[in-house]
Amino acid sequence: MGKKPTIAISHLGCEKNRIDTEHMLGLLVAAGYQVDNNEELADYVIVNTCSFIAAARTESVRTIVELAEADKKIVIAGCMAQHFQEELLAELPEAVAVVGTGDYTKIVDVIERVESGERVKEVSAEPTYIADETTPRYRTTSEGVAYLRVAEGCDYRCAFCIIPHLRGKQRSRTIESLVAEAEQLASEGVRELILISQITTNYGLDIYGEPKLAELLRALGQVDVPWIRMHYAYPTGLTPAVIEAIQETPNVLPYLDLPLQHSHPEVLRVMNRPWQGRVNDALIERIKTALPEAVLRTTFIVGFPGETQQQFEHLLQFVRHHEFDHVGAFTFSPEEGTPAYNLPHQLPQDVMDSRRDALMAVQQPISLKKNQGEVGKVVDVLIEQEHPSTGELIGRSARFAPEVDGLVYVQGEAPLGTIVPVEITDADVYDIYGSVVLSPLSVVR
Ligand code: SF4
Repeated sequence: MGKKPTIAISHLGCEKNRIDTEHMLGLLVAAGYQVDNNEELADYVIVNTCSFIAAARTESVRTIVELAEADKKIVIAGCMAQHFQEELLAELPEAVAVVGTGDYTKIVDVIERVESGERVKEVSAEPTYIADETTPRYRTTSEGVAYLRVAEGCDYRCAFCIIPHLRGKQRSRTIESLVAEAEQLASEGVRELILISQITTNYGLDIYGEPKLAELLRALGQVDVPWIRMHYAYPTGLTPAVIEAIQETPNVLPYLDLPLQHSHPEVLRVMNRPWQGRVNDALIERIKTALPEAVLRTTFIVGFPGETQQQFEHLLQFVRHHEFDHVGAFTFSPEEGTPAYNLPHQLPQDVMDSRRDALMAVQQPISLKKNQGEVGKVVDVLIEQEHPSTGELIGRSARFAPEVDGLVYVQGEAPLGTIVPVEITDADVYDIYGSVVLSPLSVVR
């Protein structure tokens, strides 16, 4: 047999896509392929694309076109492959295969078929697959961190969102499967596990007939990993049982990522959000009272079709009033195939941009105040990188999730992938700064 081709993966998009990338890498390595992160040296480049909003598609297309110009054989995987399989094959002769979001574990077979001269389209119309702890995985995150996908897909139909079309219906993994993978990751030195899915508060509904997040958190609480962070807690799913599980499970961080998207009941109704008018001041107050130490992150969409100035001001007031720790704001992006695409009263981009800027201008002093509140405290920091030129350590405290929140810049010494106490001495809007308190030998946990 001839030498197997070398393969590189170019990864775009969210952390769910990242897990797919990690499984493709793991499967290819297990099958004896040489995987290289230098695209120039590779025979094939798998582009794991994102199709969430127009800007993400533009970036995916730019990546593909650059690789095509470099004469690479391209395998297009991920959300764009699921979305535009025919168009991609028709318009890109360099694309030797397209692989859907429920088909990424067939990657070895796809490469073999391509090698034998076939142009492969491996896209299940309705993705139903979810990898588990038995699927090889090659992690690409920083040493101490791993994502744990508790479920894939979504059963809701928010008017702006293409995800259910691209990722299929919700399918959860069992508690046993997740604990097994968590234990495996912990044994590899992972210090922070990040639970992800579209709606983590709905975890288990499809396989157990009711949400089982509280049970999952308690089961993961037994795993020897210091930080468990949960993404995408839908506010109406934060039941007393879930809140109690967060309170009573010491390694579950009181960090809540609540993708609220808006505050005005009429906008939420048109958005077809699952809770519609039920997101209101009282709900947020209830969460804050139950978990007073919780760090709250949220995201909003501004400029949804028909959003009036008065509705936008309602949102500004909501942000001012609740003082979230972290806020992300996006301008509405009309996605073909979603109900919001055809809604009347679409707003001009410049209006949306100025609303986003106004929202962030309201949030910035709040974020600064929250960060300054850390000054003088000693906080645990997971050390993730060393600055290549200055040697300064860079990490995160429990208040900051990777990719979306800020960083902690740390003076002193500590091994990568460990959690160390850091005295915070300074803060700005996004990041905080400090020094390691103890010597590395005495602090590693
Ligand atoms: S809940 Fe709504 S926004 Fe979230 S993935 Fe499902 S459809 Fe999309």
